[in-house]
Amino acid sequence: MRLAVLKETAPGETRVALLPDAVKALIAKGLEVAVEAGAGVASGHSDDAYTQAGALLTSDRASLLSSADILPLVNAPSAEDQRRIQPGAVAVGFLRPLDDPAALLAAIGSGVTLFAVELVPRITRAQAMDALSSMATVAGYKAVILAADHLPRLFPMLMTAAGTVAPAKVFVIGAGVAGLQAIATARRLGAVVEAYDVRAAAGEQVRSLGAKFLDVDLGGIATEDKSGYAKELSEEALERGRELIANTARTADVIITTAQVPGRRAPLLLRRDAVENMRPGTILVDLAAAGGGNCELTRPGETQLHNGVTLFAPLNLAVTVPGHASQLYSRNIANFLALIVKDGALTLDMQDEILRDSCVAHQGRVVNPRVSAALEALAAAHTSSQA
Ligand code: NAD
Repeated sequence: MRLAVLKETAPGETRVALLPDAVKALIAKGLEVAVEAGAGVASGHSDDAYTQAGALLTSDRASLLSSADILPLVNAPSAEDQRRIQPGAVAVGFLRPLDDPAALLAAIGSGVTLFAVELVPRITRAQAMDALSSMATVAGYKAVILAADHLPRLFPMLMTAAGTVAPAKVFVIGAGVAGLQAIATARRLGAVVEAYDVRAAAGEQVRSLGAKFLDVDLGGIATEDKSGYAKELSEEALERGRELIANTARTADVIITTAQVPGRRAPLLLRRDAVENMRPGTILVDLAAAGGGNCELTRPGETQLHNGVTLFAPLNLAVTVPGHASQLYSRNIANFLALIVKDGALTLDMQDEILRDSCVAHQGRVVNPRVSAALEALAAAHTSSQA
C-alpha cells in the first residue's frame, strides 16, 4: 500500500498535507510513503526530515501520481495530474466539491475515490478530523494580527509617563470557530472586545473569553438549524442585525467579520454607509470574503482604502501561517486515514457516517447528492448557453 505526499501546486499554497511525524507513524503501520521533493519546504519541513521519517523522496511527480494508492492533498490537483492517478486510489483534501465540482471531473472519470474534508460531518467522533475548524482557528488568529499590524494605534491600554493610551476596541461579527479565536487573540493583545452572532449559544462562549456579547431582538425566530449552524435569516431579521452592527462599528478600531451560513452566500451585514460612518484609520477584515463577503464593498482577495478605512478581504489566511496550519491539517488527515487504513490495507466502510458524508465520488460515480446536483446545474447551464 503506497501513500504519496505531493508538493502542492495551487498559486500561493504553502501548506503540505502530511508532516514528517505523521509519515513516520504511517510507515510504522505498514504503509510505504513516497514524498515529492520540496513538498514540505514552504511550511518549514525539509526533504531530509521526510527521508529521516522513512519516506522515499522523488522528483518524479508523474510516477508518484500513478503509483499511489492513497493521496492526502491540501488542494485538488490539476486535471492533468488527476488523469494520472490510478483507478481505485483514494484522494482526500480540500476538494471544493460544492464550489467547483467541475474541477474534479477528471479524477471522477478515472475512478478515483474522492473524499472532501469540507464534507466531514461535525459530529463528536469527527472533531479530530475537522480541517475546516483547524483552518478557521488559524484565520481567526491571523485576522487580528493583520489588523493589529495595520492599525495606527496600539492594542493594549498603557499607562506611561507620557500619558495613558486607551485600549483598542475590536468588534467581531460571527462568533463561530474563527470569530472565537479572533476574540481570544484580541483579548490577549489587550483589546476591549465586543461580538455579535445570531446564535444565542454563541453568547456564553463570547462572554467566557472576556468579551461583551451584543444581543439583538430578532423576534424569537429560530436562528439555528438542528446541527447547530446558523440559518439563513429573513431580510427583516438581517436588517435588525445590520443596525446594531453599524452602530457598534462606528466607534470600533478593528472590525472582523466571519459570518457564514453553510451552502449560502455569506450574509451581507455591513453596507457601504456603515463603512463610510466608521472612523478614519479603522481596520476592517472580512474573513467571509471567500463566501462573497459580509461587507458590501468587499472585493474578495483585494485590499482597499475607503474613506480612511482599510478593508482587507483575504481569501486564505491559513497559507500565511504554513507551519501550524500544516501541523493541524496533517493531524486531521492522519486521523481521517486511520479510518480507512486498517492493518496496512485500504478498508472503505461506506456505511461509516464520516466516510459516507465526506465521499464525493467512488468507482467512477458521484455519490454525494449535493455535488451531483451542482454538476447537473452546471451541465444544464452549459446546454442552455449552447442553445
Ligand atoms: P460558520 O463558519 O458557518 O459561521 C461563522 C459564524 O457566523 C457562526 O457562528 C454563525 O452563527 C455566524 N452567523 C451566520 N449568519 C450570521 C448573521 N446574519 N449575523 C451574525 N452572525 C452570523 O460556522 P463555524 O465557525 O464553522 O461553526 C458554526 C457552529 O458549529 C458553531 O456552533 C461551532 O461551535 C459549531 N462547530 C461544531 C463542531 C463539532 O465538531 N461539533 C466543530 C466545529 C464547529
